Amino acid sequence: MAKVLILGAGISGHTAALIARRKLGKNHVVEVISPNSNYQWVPSNIWVGMGLMTPDQVKFELAPVYKRAGIGYKQAMAISLHPDGDQTTDRAYVKIRYVVGELKDKEENVEYDYLINATGPKLNFAATEGLGPEKYSDSVCTYQHATHAWENLQKCFKKMEAGEKQKILIGTGHPLATCQGAAFEYSLNIAFEINKRKLNHMAELTWISNEYELGDFGMGGAYVKRGGYITPTKIFAESIFKEYNINWIVGAGVNKVEKGIVHYETLDGEFHSKEFDFAMLIPSFAGAGMKAYNKQDEDITSDLFVPNGMMKVDADYTPKAYEEWDAADWPSNYKSPLYDNVYAAGIAFAPPHPMSKPMKSKNGTQINPTPPRTGMPSGVIGRIVAENIVEKIKTGTKEHRHIASMSKMGAACIVSAGYGIRHGQAAVMTVYPIVPDWKKYPKWGRDIDYTVGEIGLAGHWMKLFMHYMFLYKAKALPLWWVIPE
Ligand SMILES: Cc1cc2nc3c(=O)[nH]c(=O)nc-3n(C[C@H](O)[C@H](O)[C@H](O)COP(=O)(O)OP(=O)(O)OC[C@H]3O[C@@H](n4cnc5c(N)ncnc54)[C@H](O)[C@@H]3O)c2cc1C
Repeated sequence: MAKVLILGAGISGHTAALIARRKLGKNHVVEVISPNSNYQWVPSNIWVGMGLMTPDQVKFELAPVYKRAGIGYKQAMAISLHPDGDQTTDRAYVKIRYVVGELKDKEENVEYDYLINATGPKLNFAATEGLGPEKYSDSVCTYQHATHAWENLQKCFKKMEAGEKQKILIGTGHPLATCQGAAFEYSLNIAFEINKRKLNHMAELTWISNEYELGDFGMGGAYVKRGGYITPTKIFAESIFKEYNINWIVGAGVNKVEKGIVHYETLDGEFHSKEFDFAMLIPSFAGAGMKAYNKQDEDITSDLFVPNGMMKVDADYTPKAYEEWDAADWPSNYKSPLYDNVYAAGIAFAPPHPMSKPMKSKNGTQINPTPPRTGMPSGVIGRIVAENIVEKIKTGTKEHRHIASMSKMGAACIVSAGYGIRHGQAAVMTVYPIVPDWKKYPKWGRDIDYTVGEIGLAGHWMKLFMHYMFLYKAKALPLWWVIPE
């Protein structure tokens, strides 16, 4: 009997758990440790933040699904990894701490044969003074944050309807934040709603971001085919913002938020402030902050994790100049270089370097997006990690037949830009590969036949369809496995 332990029940970990359970015989154990009792389809939190969906429409309880599927589940946080066991046991284990109920705060050691770290991002609001829903800005990163954001945004709409002008600021809240796509989507939805309510004259909507130019999206921008022409995403994004009446500030590293005012430094070394009535700013992301110890109980955290807490995998982490970055630096099987039975999937793995060119202000502050890992690659990585582990358990192989490098994988990103069956809109972008490969595609960095951008009503339908389809799959309802990630 082998035990596969999965830390995190998000897009990556939940996918891995369902696949491992389906492909492993019942005499093997699959168990998930996750602190939130719910699964949430994070991309639809944008609609929660607009009052267009309720939290219940984007989440469901994990326990009944895991019970039905035969997956063990503990509502707890992983605190530390002990991949060699300790002085009392040779078995690898993870120390967990329960977060609710009678067991709250109780610690326990959970043994494993194979471990998947899929703990996603720690939303690091603390890295920017005054940032986050507990301080002065909002977030849509969780359904709880999005609910709070909608409460505050409604107040703005009411004030505008009463004739009071409002300043709305959307973007990134740290010089190295990622996930620009989510903020971009939220800004378009707000603009759509302002327009629908005929409040354009009452609203000043501004985008603030650490991208050096619009449309970078943390992936170094892209050239996309649009209506038969090849367009840089800079132009694509600028034309959408113009159409939606959104101003923009780029190359901006937000360093402090106070009540109604955000402070930032720009790449030219200047320091500025911007007033706001509502601000939704994405924080920087870090790893979950787990420690690791060897058999002698010595701290080996820095052997397994990079300094921000994300886990080292089969990437090339040798520090290199931007000009030497190679698509081949990116990992493909997500195994820890130190342990053959430890993997990291989704946002939990440490990328070898950003995709956007590193930039420093004249004062030496680094201001550039760190690499995004969106839902599709997170799900695909969760799947291939589970498939490789299943094969290892079943056949004893050491090979990884299933690989998924972000430099060989495409992704589709649908950015809703207004809600409604007849009047909704969405910008659809597909990129192939996600990580640009200038050696293979010297002209455009990506395969221009598969790197496409369009905006229209059909995109909105696709986004809505994906919401229901992916929640169906996550609930492990009949034939869930035929739905791709
Ligand atoms: C508002 C928003 C909109 C987005 N929209 C899109 C979109 O339209 N398309 C797209 O492709 N991507 C989108 N993304 C990105 C996408 O949501 C992420 O790529 C994806 O959620 C990453 O999956 P993950 O499993 O790595 O992390 P997560 O989904 O964040 O899951 C991490 C899991 O780990 C758990 N966890 C945390 N700490 C611990 C611990 N110590 N021990 C155990 N468990 C732990 C968490 O509770 C959670 O269950 C969006 C993101 C945001 C924030």
